[in-house]
Order: sequence, then structure tokens, then C-alpha cells
Amino acid sequence: NTSSSSDFIRETISEDLKAGRVEAVVTRFPPEPNGYLHIGHAKSIYINFGVADEYGGKTNLRFDDTNPLKEDAEYVNAIKEDVAWLGYEWDGLYFASDYFEEMYRRAVLLIKKGKAYVDDQSADEVRESRGTLTEAGKNSPFRDRTVEENLDLFERMRKGEFEDGQKVLRAKIDMASPNLNLRDPVLYRISHAVHHNTGDKWCIYPMYAYAHPLEDAIEGVTHSLCTLEFKDQRPLYDWVVSECEMPHVPHQYEFGRLNLSNTIMSKRYLKKLVDDKLVDGWDDPRMPTISGLRRRGFTPEAIRSFVKELGITVAGGEVDYKLLEHHARQDLNLRAPRTMAVIRPLKVVITNYPEGQVEWLEVKLNPEVPEMGTTKIPFSREVYIEQEDFMEVPPPKYHRLYPGNEVRLKDAYFVTCHEVIKDDEGTVVELHCTYDPETKSGSGFNGRKVKGTIHWVSCESAIPAEIRLYEAMLREDSDADTAFEERMNPDSLKIEHGYIGVDLKDAQPQEKFQFVRQGYFNVDPKDTTQSQKVFNLIVSLKSSFKI
Ligand code: ATP
Ligand code: MG
Ligand code: MG
Repeated sequence: NTSSSSDFIRETISEDLKAGRVEAVVTRFPPEPNGYLHIGHAKSIYINFGVADEYGGKTNLRFDDTNPLKEDAEYVNAIKEDVAWLGYEWDGLYFASDYFEEMYRRAVLLIKKGKAYVDDQSADEVRESRGTLTEAGKNSPFRDRTVEENLDLFERMRKGEFEDGQKVLRAKIDMASPNLNLRDPVLYRISHAVHHNTGDKWCIYPMYAYAHPLEDAIEGVTHSLCTLEFKDQRPLYDWVVSECEMPHVPHQYEFGRLNLSNTIMSKRYLKKLVDDKLVDGWDDPRMPTISGLRRRGFTPEAIRSFVKELGITVAGGEVDYKLLEHHARQDLNLRAPRTMAVIRPLKVVITNYPEGQVEWLEVKLNPEVPEMGTTKIPFSREVYIEQEDFMEVPPPKYHRLYPGNEVRLKDAYFVTCHEVIKDDEGTVVELHCTYDPETKSGSGFNGRKVKGTIHWVSCESAIPAEIRLYEAMLREDSDADTAFEERMNPDSLKIEHGYIGVDLKDAQPQEKFQFVRQGYFNVDPKDTTQSQKVFNLIVSLKSSFKI
């Protein structure tokens, strides 16, 4: 299931080129601008752009905007931004709505050939008379209208003489076809709605199944790559291209959709989360949208290597979210500078360290990438450590700080805990330790060893920061039948107030860091202010994912 150069789509393309059936590969990525792109779209983008690129071909970005009620220019702009951010350059930028006139002409042609008719049945009647897999459909009482009558009615549909739903244009194929898609599918519907691109020029709109093959044919697409749920529509796709007498003949191929564990990947549901304000917009860092992943801190490289590893498989199935996290770690490990930050702070006073003294320690920015160099961080008498790095009564094998135990403060000194200060409720609020000046990191001291090393931030210059910790958007135990709102994981966002070191004073939105021993974090671009930085957990350091 890993990336390979031989899958059925690449094989088909190679053969088409070799046999001269195709001169140059043309693909398209055809989002409907009715929402933001999600990680599933990244797979489609990778396949369409990536494959065309491998064969020296071209890829169009085409907005499949045939449903005015759901579409919006906001989505068009967001989609363009996301595709570009992922690192793909489209050749042509097109809108299906630019082809409405040609689509209309082709529909008139179908009517003239006796291949389409205007039906007065309601949507319910059309659906009910369609039949089932075991039962043939029933012909519409309007199926045998004359060509003249159909031409007249279709023109009047366009002119706006009828209400929404009063009439449709249907293909005349076969109401007994074993393929339900061929039982006189609807080609046009009436919708008196304002379209984001064509305004109120049109009040009839083509259906996807009719529009899509024409869009592909008009643009000279050679390989129309789509997800598996369109497989049964392929005969209709071919019928439309052929009966509309399109000079260029595109072909459709299907691949498996990407589904990720514990997340929702349907735009309809994602939009509901946004509209119901269960999340902070389409770019909420918990969302599987490209904009959410970007704000969370995922890099385009990590997303690309993830979808590349998925490859072009027919099998759908669910991919573990941990695989995406694995690719993020791989990428950030070498890219992100390391720093010490404390998420849930506990103050430590080093009682034998001179008051007012600040020592600057040189530390490597990323020990795995020496070229990244070093920086200096301050050490002083008071430092913050992580609450979980201290236990008053430690369990066996706990090697961090506890009364009487000595640990290393990373890049600094050994310290020993002598006193635990508590408030009235018995909560530990401060620790008193002593340090051993002999044990300075880098001094070559090897008089004795300690088992625990913990991170810290010097109090005198520590900068308060909001740190947002994320978990999966959906509860582990929820299934698709559970009411949608109840599937939301209540722990999907936890907000902590911690400290970063002065080395992150100038960190900019979207800069990424490894907080040592904890994980990778991104400076939130939306909520970071002059006075306070907000960090998003991208992914923790630990992984239970095994390749
Ligand atoms: P949704 O069901 O989320 O609304 P869609 O398929 O209607 O998605 P489109 O905007 O039509 O969304 O998608 C554009 C392209 O991306 C289509 O070719 C579609 O097949 C593909 N695509 C959408 N979701 C996925 C997915 N989860 N995995 C792979 N490809 C996808
Ligand atoms: Mg779609
Ligand atoms: Mg859709």
C-alpha cells in the first residue's frame, strides 16, 4: 500500500500514451465551492496534479459550481489559497459556470435527437417511478412529448416562466436499465437563485452528472480521476459525452476515497460544525480541513508525503490519523528548532544559587541538525518546571523530581529537592532545591549520574503564553449512528497557561518549534496578539504508530 510507480491509473496512462490514444495528459481537480478543502481533497489533488506532472501533462483547477444555493466566492478564494499552499500550480483556472451556454446548446441538441425531454413530474414522483435494483422503473407520462414541445418548454424553462421544481429536463435512456443512473437521469433543474459567478443570468442549472463530463470534454481532459462512488455513473458519463457529440472524449477512472479515523470528512458535516459554532470556523485547528491543519501547524510537506504514501488505491477503508501525525513528526524533527517551554508550571527556588544572578547557557537549536547552530538561554535562582515532573510520593521507577532526589535540569545543573511548599488546600505551589555548581552541563562532570532530566524555564524572563492542546475531534467510542453533536470529543481542546523562554520572544505566527520532551507547536496565526502568544499542539513527540 505504499507509494509505487505502478498502480492502475499510472498503468492506464502509460498505455494510452504508448498506444497514441492520448498525446498529452490533462487532468483536473474539480472542487465544488461549497466549503473548504479537507485532507481527503489533498489526496485527490496529489493524484490529479502529481500524476499529470509525472507524465509532463497539465492540470486544471476547475470549480464545479453548478449549484448556486450552496456556493460562495469565499469558498472559491479559500480553495485557491489551499491548493497553492499545498504547493501545486494549476495550468488553467476554470469555472463550470463559464460553460453554461455551451451546456445549454448541447441539451438542445439532445432534445432535437430525441434523447431528452421535459418532465412535469415532481422530484418525489421522479424518484418513486425510478424503480429499484430488482424492479424496473416506470416511464413518465411526459416521456413521449414531441421534439417541438420539448424545445419550446426547455426554452421557456430558461426564460423563467416556471417555478422551482415545476419541470426538469431528463435524458431519455432506459427506465429498465439495470444501472439506476441510466433510468432517465435529470439533466437540468429550475432554481431561481443568484449564482456567485453568473448572478441571475440563469434560472436553470445543469446537474452534476450531466455537467461534469461536458466540463471535462470542453477542457480536453484526458483522464478524469474521481472517487469510487462515481463508478456507477461512468456509463452515464460516457453517454453524455457521446450523445452530446463532444469532439474530445475524456475517460473517467475511479480511486478510493480517503477516510481518516476519528474525524469527519464530509463538507456538509464540517459546515454544520462551523454554522453551529461547535468549532472556531473552518480553520479551527481540530478540523481536518487544509486551513485547519495549516493553522494547527502541519506543513504542506508533511501532508504531501502522507498522501503520497497512501498511493492510488481502489480500496477505501479508514486510515489511522496517527499516520498523518507520523509524517508531521518526520518533517518537523529536522525543521523545527527546539526550545524549553513549560505547559503547567511549578516554581522551583534554588536556594543556594546567588540572588539576582543570571547565567547564559549555550544550547543547540536542534542537535540533529548542527547547521541550525546554537542560542543562549538564561538560568537563574528561580525556574519553572512541569507540574508532572514532580511527585511528592513517587511511584516505583519515577526518576524525576521528588523529595530527596537529584535530577538534571536540562542544559544546566543537577538539583536536589529539599522542601515542598503547599497552600492551605495542600496543593504543591513551590519547591525548594539546591544545585551543585560542579555539575554544570558541558563541564565534563562525571562524579555521579542522575536518572532523570527535566526541562525548565527561567522565571526572571519567562513569557506567559497560552498553550492549546488538542485531541481527536470525535470521541473514540462514537460511531456514525450517534447523533452528530454527541460525537464531538469534549477533550478535543484543552487550554493551558504556561511559559515560554525569552528565546521565543520574537516568534512569528506560523513558526513551529519542538517543546522538548513534549511535542511540536505552532504559533497560532489568528489568536496570537502583541501581548500574548498562543501555541497550538501540532503533534506530541511520542508515537504509538508502527510502520
Ligand atoms: P464532500 O462529500 O466532502 O462534499 P465532495 O466529493 O462533494 O466532498 P468536491 O468538492 O466535489 O467534494 O471534491 C472535489 C474532488 O475531490 C472530487 O473529485 C472528489 O472525488 C475528491 N474528494 C473529495 N473527498 C475526497 C476524499 N475523502 N478522498 C479523496 N478524494 C476526495
Ligand atoms: Mg462533489
Ligand atoms: Mg459535495
